Amino acid sequence: MTSVQFQSASSVRSQAPHHKAKGLPRGKVRPAKDLCSDCGLCDTHYIHYVQEACAFLNQQVPQLEEQTHGRSRNLDSEDDWYFGVHQDMMAARKQEPIEGAQWTGIVSSIAIEMLTSGKVEGVVCVQNTESDRFQPMPVIARSPEAILAARVNKPTLSPNLSVLELIEQSNMKRVLVIGVGCQIQALRAVEQKLGLEKLYVLGTPCVDNVTRAGLQKFLETTSRSPETVVHYEFMQDFRVHFKHEDGSTEQVPFFGLKTNKLKDVFAPSCMSCFDYTNSLADLVVGYMGAPFGWQWIVVRNDRGQEMLDMVEDQIETQPVMSQGDRQAAVQQSIPAYDKGVTLPMWAAQLMGVVIERVGPKGLEYARFSIDSHFTRNYLYVKRNHPEKLEDHVPDYAKKIVAQYKLPE
Ligand code: FAD
Ligand code: SF4
Repeated sequence: MTSVQFQSASSVRSQAPHHKAKGLPRGKVRPAKDLCSDCGLCDTHYIHYVQEACAFLNQQVPQLEEQTHGRSRNLDSEDDWYFGVHQDMMAARKQEPIEGAQWTGIVSSIAIEMLTSGKVEGVVCVQNTESDRFQPMPVIARSPEAILAARVNKPTLSPNLSVLELIEQSNMKRVLVIGVGCQIQALRAVEQKLGLEKLYVLGTPCVDNVTRAGLQKFLETTSRSPETVVHYEFMQDFRVHFKHEDGSTEQVPFFGLKTNKLKDVFAPSCMSCFDYTNSLADLVVGYMGAPFGWQWIVVRNDRGQEMLDMVEDQIETQPVMSQGDRQAAVQQSIPAYDKGVTLPMWAAQLMGVVIERVGPKGLEYARFSIDSHFTRNYLYVKRNHPEKLEDHVPDYAKKIVAQYKLPE
């Protein structure tokens, strides 16, 4: 376990936007309307750039890849096509995991090293409010304790960019931002306007996010004890793993999820997202391309490598692997999801066991997850926002979707 002890979010030094700290409602102007992911940009004066910057109003992943990494992804290379521009990929885990982190705490560890080494003066990350462990509270952390207090996913839409004005006011010139794809796309679009000397971006993949109310519905529909869940993850063994306050764990097979009840739970923004792997971060830390128990690292550029080097002596690594064939499973799941088919629990358990043995692993599991979500989201945009379909879906996603036969 880490030597830095955990402190509650409220007891550590960090900066949160005043309106959040006082619990006042934030501004309500949301040009993306129901597609808004509450990334936080519109809570700041950078709202002036929203038409250009918002991931849901102006899809510009290839242009921003070019600006950020010096090139956009190569659709003829399968890894580039699926996972985005990168110079290295690996599986990794901390030798001494951070207690209470989402996985082994690589994200928090990198952020701590970046801050304590002086490479950055502050870290944008997400703590939770005092009264609700899953209610996100974006902050600029200026101590290792404040970074640690932000560890673990707040599996809800989080207005991370709402702290951008605080960066400006505090005169910081070197900053690390931790965030998910939609937040990072808007950040990249206004990056040049922030007046920073150095911006590092540490991203996580993200999919199927929810509002706080949606999360409650998901927990109540899926877990035996929704009130005591402290952590959950959709794992590579095709099960949702819940951890409860008393340390007990609970596993629910994907195929046993009550799809008919959960169909409307995911935020419309997430049903319309094609940036699962956070294309515009310098470094991405997830899990889905790694063997069970390991984290998946995608180094997109030299700044990403510089960040990863900071924890070189704290992690063990192994090359990425890929096993199995996802395509038949993805094709079968498309109409099943569309019709909201839910298996009885015994059948779901059995299917979980079988697919865990013979199903896709490593990078092939990541492709399985990307294919399943992109086909579902393509159908969602086609049915709900047909006028957006052509411009909103990037070419790499169209090519992924074109591998499958979709219902009308
Ligand atoms: P920790 O050291 O525990 O740090 C977690 C960091 O995440 C903190 O710094 C915190 O600021 C930040 N964070 C927490 N909640 C949010 C939020 N709502 N928005 C933005 N930042 C946040 N990985 C996959 O491979 N596949 C997935 O499908 C996938 N889905 C995800 C969905 C969500 C909503 C999130 C937030 C992450 C998802 N991830 C996914 C990433 C993965 O779950 C881990 O976050 C990642 O591997 C880092 O683990 P860690 O132990 O290093 O993180
Ligand atoms: Fe504004 Fe962000 Fe919502 Fe787009 S997603 S409307 S930029 S808050």
